[in-house]
Amino acid sequence: MEQRHHLHSDLGPPPRLSIPRRAGFSSRVALSHAIRTTTGQPCDATLNSMRVARLPFCIAVVVIFSVRSLAQNTNSDVPPVIDVHVHAMDDAGPLAAPMCPNTPKFTASDPDTKEAPFGWVQEECTPKLYPAAKGEYIKDVIAEMQRLNVTAVVFGDPASVQKWKDAAPDRVIPGTGFEKGMAAGRVPLDDLRTAFKNGGFKVMGEIGLQYEGLSPSDPSVDQYFALAEELDIPAAIHMGTGGSGRANVIMPKFRGSKGDPLLLEDLLARHPKLRLQVMHAGYPMIDNMLTLLQANSHVYVDVAGLIWSYPLKEVNRYIERLVEAGFEDRVMFGTDQLVWPKLMAYSISIIQNADYLTPEQKRDILYNNAARFLRLDTKKPN
Ligand SMILES: [Zn+2]
Repeated sequence: MEQRHHLHSDLGPPPRLSIPRRAGFSSRVALSHAIRTTTGQPCDATLNSMRVARLPFCIAVVVIFSVRSLAQNTNSDVPPVIDVHVHAMDDAGPLAAPMCPNTPKFTASDPDTKEAPFGWVQEECTPKLYPAAKGEYIKDVIAEMQRLNVTAVVFGDPASVQKWKDAAPDRVIPGTGFEKGMAAGRVPLDDLRTAFKNGGFKVMGEIGLQYEGLSPSDPSVDQYFALAEELDIPAAIHMGTGGSGRANVIMPKFRGSKGDPLLLEDLLARHPKLRLQVMHAGYPMIDNMLTLLQANSHVYVDVAGLIWSYPLKEVNRYIERLVEAGFEDRVMFGTDQLVWPKLMAYSISIIQNADYLTPEQKRDILYNNAARFLRLDTKKPN
């Protein structure tokens, strides 16, 4: 299924993306990256010219290739990773383009000029991340998951998620939500109950109410969270990131204020046993995120999307803040995997190269915390 995006008329008709309608709304962030085409340079040349702040990028690349050679030789020795935030896309999409992760700047523009539909600066980088070839996306990502020893929570409508489950039964934890897409209504409550009770679905998400301008505590969706609490299914809610600099143009209902982590307080008060995954860790509202974490010990966060979208120094500072504040046991790794199969390896490398994390903290973020949250395993694997 496709999503239509209301893009600036300078680009002609809206692009058609092969993103499942119920895929997470953070896929819009990915679209912004997909449109930022770039030209590459050899890594060495870039290292010579790049600012200090960009250095970790090439270091990360070295680690990616190290992981690859390790995986090819001793796959069973690669420590396990859980990615708690993957979308059940079945194709990279016809407009998918190479992408530079960790874009360093947003554009400063004037509405009196021809503004681009996305507000990121277009800057060169190397290596870029490349989209999967047509029809190869699921196969390529599953191959990466096997190489990197990743198990993933894959979100989407039931039929889309089933494709992933069929492709990798032992590596896919199925997730589905109650939204049918922008302004397309809700999934009937009984359908969702059936999906969780009989369909093998383990997580409710990605819930993207922020893109509808709704608070997660809005009474109109309370029945779904009541169901999650009743069935003891964790709920994964998009909080924080989004807009991509052009919210006013391409997603007029999006409200940054509806991503405030403290908007979850009423929901948690109504449903005290609800297990909650705050997707994107409420970025960039760190103070309110910490306030919520301090008050609710079974609230976890994932760092998906933000880990490869925003300026790298800022990403590391945000994760460091979560850990330094005492929440190293509740930060979970995630990618928001879309379009580019190597995005998963790239994102893992950000954690692996974080010099502010101990080896134990890296393992907790990459595996142990999610295993505990999802109740996959009660003992640490290493
Ligand atoms: Zn999201």
